[in-house]
Amino acid sequence: MPIEPRGRITVDLSALVRNWKSLANLVAPAACAGVVKADAYGLGAEPVTKALWTAGCRSFFVASCEEALALRASLKDARIFVLDGIFGGNGSELARANLIPVLSTLDHVAAWRTEANRRGRTLPAALQIDSGLNRLGFDRDEIATLRNQPDQLAGFDVQLVLSHLASADDPKALENENQRQAFLAHADYLPNVPRSLAASDGLMLGKDYHFDLVRPGYALYGGQAFRGRSTPVEPVVTVTAKILQVRTVRAGEAVGYSATYRATSDMRIAVIAAGYADGMPRGASAGNGEVHGIAAIQGKRVPVIGRVSMDLIALDVTGLPDGVMNQCDDVELIGPTVSLDKAGHNAGTIGYEILTRLSPRFARSYKSGGAA
Ligand SMILES: *Cc1c(COP(=O)(O)O)cnc(C)c1O
Repeated sequence: MPIEPRGRITVDLSALVRNWKSLANLVAPAACAGVVKADAYGLGAEPVTKALWTAGCRSFFVASCEEALALRASLKDARIFVLDGIFGGNGSELARANLIPVLSTLDHVAAWRTEANRRGRTLPAALQIDSGLNRLGFDRDEIATLRNQPDQLAGFDVQLVLSHLASADDPKALENENQRQAFLAHADYLPNVPRSLAASDGLMLGKDYHFDLVRPGYALYGGQAFRGRSTPVEPVVTVTAKILQVRTVRAGEAVGYSATYRATSDMRIAVIAAGYADGMPRGASAGNGEVHGIAAIQGKRVPVIGRVSMDLIALDVTGLPDGVMNQCDDVELIGPTVSLDKAGHNAGTIGYEILTRLSPRFARSYKSGGAA
């Protein structure tokens, strides 16, 4: 008999594929890439990228050179963009695996040019322009240098010019149009290079933001971060944990570390096999009179009480009818009742952080089938 895991992440690859197709449809004739950095947001880069490739996705974005090399092993012909750019002597690895660094500084440009010269061949590149986020990307002065010294890009096959939005989740934010204008102004000097500005939320801002390629990550995994209306995607991820013990707590007794929750009347609690070591944020903890983290048992919401500890969480199940729940039953932490975004919000963070921190302690399983 296989041992049942204490917790499980189930990834619905058919839903993932439907999400990609739905976004690809929405933005056509622009192309739709897949952002699979951080192990496909914690869901497993290999199964996720294989499913996306089979669906027709041809361009992928990762953060690091290591992530890109791992992806190249299973996707021989994909375009793989490396958002970190080039540093620390990884140029020859990038070139050897035919990866596309996203160049964001003149140092990146110089390092990649050295690599192209050394190999005596043209190398693929993407250029990132900062349009107001002040994270990665060429600033105004560097763009002027590139413009005035076209030889800087000699030896590159520039496949994409991109920028990233700061406030795309908020359709009312003025930064969106300001950044779009800045992107247009700066990208102008590369008239024949395909352009990309939007990620999951940016693509919801409308056609003006699609350009030639959109770069969704979170929405592919079912995330709903856009605040204007809902993104046409469905949930992909279910996270469950086992009930280890159901117990009665008497009025006046405390639950959990530091006794932050005290029963005001007799109650029943379920202790489940998930904690912050599994990636369940401690911010979901709740003292008396607070509701933060929520889980669900057979579709019924039950609140977290007391502190989330390393391995365990206590849930107030007093309101559940008898027989609904037993030791060893699965409790939903993320799924049809508790959305990823809600789970993030309830813990004082965002769904992105929840997803990418789900720990290896969870068993992962993949389902596909159904209409893909
Ligand atoms: C992470 C990232 C994306 C994807 O963002 P989502 O909000 O997950 O769609 C796109 N572009 C860049 C530059 C990123 O860093």
